[in-house]
Amino acid sequence: MSDLDHDHLQEAARRHLWMHFSRLGSYLESEIPVIVRGEGSYVFDSRGRRYLDGLSSLFVSQIGHGRQELSSAAAKQSDELAYFPVWSFGHPSAIELAERLANSTPGDLNRVFFTTGGSEAVEAAYKLARQYFKLVGQPGRYKVISRQWAYHGVTMGALSLTGVPAMKAPFEPMVPGAIKVPNAHFFRTMEHASDEQAFGLWAADQVERALVMEGPDSVAAVFVEPVQNAGGSVPPPPGYFQRVREICDKYGVLLVSDEVICAFGRLGEWFGAQRYGFQPDMITFAKGVTSGYAPLGGVLVSDRIGEPFLKDKTSFAHGVTFGGHPVACAVALANLEVFEREDLLAHVRSNEGALQATLNKLRDLPLVGDVRGAGYFWALELVKDKNGNVRFDADERERLLRGFLAPRLLEAGLICRPDDRGDSIIQLAPTLISEREQFNEMEQILRDVLIEAQSIL
Ligand code: PLP
Repeated sequence: MSDLDHDHLQEAARRHLWMHFSRLGSYLESEIPVIVRGEGSYVFDSRGRRYLDGLSSLFVSQIGHGRQELSSAAAKQSDELAYFPVWSFGHPSAIELAERLANSTPGDLNRVFFTTGGSEAVEAAYKLARQYFKLVGQPGRYKVISRQWAYHGVTMGALSLTGVPAMKAPFEPMVPGAIKVPNAHFFRTMEHASDEQAFGLWAADQVERALVMEGPDSVAAVFVEPVQNAGGSVPPPPGYFQRVREICDKYGVLLVSDEVICAFGRLGEWFGAQRYGFQPDMITFAKGVTSGYAPLGGVLVSDRIGEPFLKDKTSFAHGVTFGGHPVACAVALANLEVFEREDLLAHVRSNEGALQATLNKLRDLPLVGDVRGAGYFWALELVKDKNGNVRFDADERERLLRGFLAPRLLEAGLICRPDDRGDSIIQLAPTLISEREQFNEMEQILRDVLIEAQSIL
């Protein structure tokens, strides 16, 4: 790419491209990173600079960049049938993918409702739960429970489930009846601070408490991520999901596992629920199902929840034009073939210990208070004092995360995500093909930049 192309792209992007969740004004003065190419675990910008993709782009690029077999699968499907809806029709790639997914799920999640992404998947699961209860004669069940700080997407239903106040404030009021319970975040807990198991049960019991407070007959579903992203890769304490499942069963409430990030190998299994041994009634997915080579999402639904929709004259009153797009489904099938051929789930399981050990080396830095996660889904929590008792205030977070770490890490060649939904963290989610070489590179860059960061505080 010539300098001229680069300059034109900068100018056109500044003038016309509305970047998501971005402070557009801050780019009026500074350069917009323009990524033009990807290869394996690396991407390249319009100036030819190379970056380690330490976030799988956005928890998406499971099999890495530049895989020609996925673009070939897209081209082949486009030639045969570029588009047809799954509204009252089927087409082979959607049918085959639905069968393939149903065969990898835990339990009897045998039916797939396709969408084009994660927010739509969560929105569909939310609506499905509501309509299900109307069909089975419990029309009063419309509320939903989710966890503080959890991110479940941006459409109004999914946003109402989201527990990040700043994301909702510009769009209030939310959908009524979206209740929040405390997070199962052991590092930040004041409850049972020395006993993770007891804390797990306490955290799960908060779901029961909320259900009882709201009136159990008014609640349709509980939404949880197996490992929660916002707040920094928060894995469940032992026994947490088993207890949440028991509570849902006790009160006849559906359990939805939002696996938009956690599915497709991120935690070393097809689905996060398998890793933690619990059985959801629905699983939402997106991102990694195609490794980003095409947009796709969906909801996996149990036979029990699907059953009332099979009755004569009944339909789920919901659909999107591009849900189950033939090209996206063909790409997903090709993606899953790569998973099988390269045994990527086993690769993640056998390398996650090395990733954890490499990141754990950073604990010697004064800024690093916690290193947590599972599979290839990790976060560093940044602290003002080693115990994490003194939190950064809003100005400090702004200076540290957005003012220094985000631009400096990029400059140093690492794509990752400094974030402060909740506390101050750096999110890391390498491609599932990453190995020790990439782990070490990530650690080295983080170490250098975090040492520098110390001096700006
Ligand atoms: N749910 C979870 C857990 C997510 O992490 C995300 C996105 O990051 C979403 C839902 C929304 O997905 P999308 O951005 O594809 O709409």
